[in-house]
Amino acid sequence: MGSHLRFYEAGEVIFHQGETSDCAYVIEHGKVDIFIEDESLDTLVVGDLFGEMGVLDQKPRSTSARALTQVALLKVKTNQITERLQGSDPIVKALVRVLLKRFRSLLSNDTSLDSDVLFSEVESVIEDAGLTKIKLESELRTAIGNQQIETVYQPINDIATGDIAGFEALSRWEHPDKGVISPFEFITLAEETDLIVDVGRLVFERACQVLSRLPEHYFININVSPKQLDNDLFLQHVVNLMKQNGVAPSRLKLEITETMVVDFEQANEWIHKCKALGFPICADDFGTGHSGMQQLVELDFDVLKVDQVFIRNMFENKKYATVLQSIARIGTDLGMKLVAEGVEEKEQYQSLKLLGFDYGQGYYFGRPMSESDVLKLTEK
Ligand code: C2E
Ligand code: CA
Ligand code: CA
Repeated sequence: MGSHLRFYEAGEVIFHQGETSDCAYVIEHGKVDIFIEDESLDTLVVGDLFGEMGVLDQKPRSTSARALTQVALLKVKTNQITERLQGSDPIVKALVRVLLKRFRSLLSNDTSLDSDVLFSEVESVIEDAGLTKIKLESELRTAIGNQQIETVYQPINDIATGDIAGFEALSRWEHPDKGVISPFEFITLAEETDLIVDVGRLVFERACQVLSRLPEHYFININVSPKQLDNDLFLQHVVNLMKQNGVAPSRLKLEITETMVVDFEQANEWIHKCKALGFPICADDFGTGHSGMQQLVELDFDVLKVDQVFIRNMFENKKYATVLQSIARIGTDLGMKLVAEGVEEKEQYQSLKLLGFDYGQGYYFGRPMSESDVLKLTEK
């Protein structure tokens, strides 16, 4: 530990403006003055980091640093910082670059870098290949605000009778220039920020409306994300909405994917919270994640939705059929309802019936459709 520390006496210069930057420092003891020529800019104390700018952009030091008292500094190597930055989100990287540039221009009193120039710098950074994402995110924000995120409904059929029993609500975004953007792309983007809560709000509001217009035996499944389940205000909003629309919470099933289950304690907290509000809980994409069978033991799911991969391969690969059979058996024995996803062919439907599945979803039964088609189809 001691060998990593550098010591300076009061008045000693740590680095000069214009020198190459090879490391940053954290103050372990004493005070440091950051200055340009004769003007002091800042006094730093124990725990402060300095000299990091040059490390980030490999430019010469914009300021000088001097010990005000006796100081002990911990050296932070360039690669300690650059490796972290390389591995970070492209948006974070771009923001760091822009902020650095702005800060340097302030330090050098460079008036040529006025706000317009900086703005176009931000723009050009955004144009950068890695940063189409930040643009897409802004567009998604606008699209949500303008209600341009559509909700479609895919039938979930009763396997025994073949009749529609309910629907899964799925989000759609048709971008004005880029066309249809896959939910895998925009939902992932939304999940990285709080936008997913806004997307979710749209879906819930519409689903409540649709349910209030459908006969009572129909249900709607909704995909939920961790940020929504952590947000008590959001859940309360949904409950109020249902009350207003006179819809029983038992008709709204919440789908949780296996990838969301990182820690059983947290997942149990979500599940119990939702169940206490009356929402049944469905394990989505079952069989593809890493927690597998253990989540069946640890978590209180009402419905098990077996991932499409098992249905797609049930005739191609006997092992898939065997595992599918075992999952169906376990699900039934644990008292859960079973749903098969991605049912595309009649033969699959017939086999699933024999395996004891309760529900099926897939192109064989129907593609995702608009609200008005749902209302037409369920009209008696
Ligand atoms: P998911 O929850 O597993 O939804 C099922 C996906 O399979 C849907 O894709 C659906 O269109 C597709 N699908 C249905 N039947 C068949 C079939 O027979 N064959 C094949 N090949 N595919 C079928 P989609 O709509 O593109 O959604 C993708 C994923 O995006 C969803 O997977 C879900 O995880 C997520 N997602 C969609 N909407 C929302 C939303 O509003 N909120 C959240 N949190 N996630 C959403
Ligand atoms: Ca789902
Ligand atoms: Ca699924």
